[in-house]
Amino acid sequence: MGSLRQIDFIFVHHSASPDVSAQEIDGWHKAQGWAGIGYHYVVRASGEIEPGRTEIANGAHCKGLNHNSIGICVTGDFTEHKPTNEQMASLVGLIVSLKRKYPGAEVVRHSDKAATECPGHLFPWGELLNLVGRGGDMFSDVPESRWSAATIKLAVELGIMGGFPDGTFKPAEQFTREQAASALTRLFFLTHEESKVNTVIRNCSPAVATVYAGGGGGSGFFVSDKLLVTNAHVVNGVNTVTIVTAQGNFIGEVERRGMVWDSKGNITWAEKNVAVDLATVRITKKADEKAAWGSGFPVVKFADTEPKDGDFLVLIGSPLLIQGWKSLGIVSRQTPFFINTDAAINPGNSGGAGFNLSGEFVGVPTYKYSGNAVDSMGGLIRSEVVRLWLDGRHDQIKF
Ligand SMILES: [Zn+2]
Repeated sequence: MGSLRQIDFIFVHHSASPDVSAQEIDGWHKAQGWAGIGYHYVVRASGEIEPGRTEIANGAHCKGLNHNSIGICVTGDFTEHKPTNEQMASLVGLIVSLKRKYPGAEVVRHSDKAATECPGHLFPWGELLNLVGRGGDMFSDVPESRWSAATIKLAVELGIMGGFPDGTFKPAEQFTREQAASALTRLFFLTHEESKVNTVIRNCSPAVATVYAGGGGGSGFFVSDKLLVTNAHVVNGVNTVTIVTAQGNFIGEVERRGMVWDSKGNITWAEKNVAVDLATVRITKKADEKAAWGSGFPVVKFADTEPKDGDFLVLIGSPLLIQGWKSLGIVSRQTPFFINTDAAINPGNSGGAGFNLSGEFVGVPTYKYSGNAVDSMGGLIRSEVVRLWLDGRHDQIKF
């Protein structure tokens, strides 16, 4: 399906400039005619990490390898000075968390893949590799045989603790108050659900769009370049729709439709015997001059694991056709076909996307119970059903 952007490389760059904000870099790159900042993260001299382009979108930082990489820019000119300690600490934390998300990804310098000096000869590359792990023994003083080796490895992989620039962990040394403050703060951010919801919203929103169809509409989400999934009932009776995305407005053609029903409950079988309220729409042209194709549309990442009752669920869509509305709920009472939830689902949410707290797509908000005395009872078509339908494996869909 190719819905997940395969990440093979995590690039480290420098800005070759004084310490600048992500916003300033965004301005430089826009001035070059790009869609905006080409990096996914900017690590400032203060150690602050500023978001750039959303991770699910291709970057613009290394020609030929933008489709399968994440770009990090460390601010400063490391042909003239070294990065700050705060910068290195944050960079290590960021890379460790990215490696956890993209286990196969190799950490590389821009200069490893292109004819450039970037990130400069004063950048402590060997130290960085020691800190983020090269595979094999993580630290020279923590052999696999040491009783604590597994927990040290886990604490580093989770980004809670780090090693020293010389490639050691100093496992028997005392833990100071400042180290405790640093580790506990990282632990807090790792476990704090609220910050996860913010991250999910920031990373996943660009993959969700508003679908205007006839006099009504709903929501939709990108599963591959220019291909959007929505509910069949959102595009019932129309072949052409207008899609409003973060990149501008586009025209889409309805490609496939599952089952649709009218207000009297009569069912139309658009695809014989496929009782699935799903449709695909292909973006065919720009609706206005300002619309930017960029390097493709950000796509959702399908969840690999099934949600459990009680898991948080973040819905993104366009209830009442208001773009970018979010709601939060928990998973309850699942069936092989539906995930039920108390997250608010309103007309227009249909065809949007529900995400778990890892930012993975888990289902399509499709229906709600309604009535004067009814509140917050709705359901999503499971992402697995969407995957089977897209692949034409209808016989494997369970109801
Ligand atoms: Zn570079």
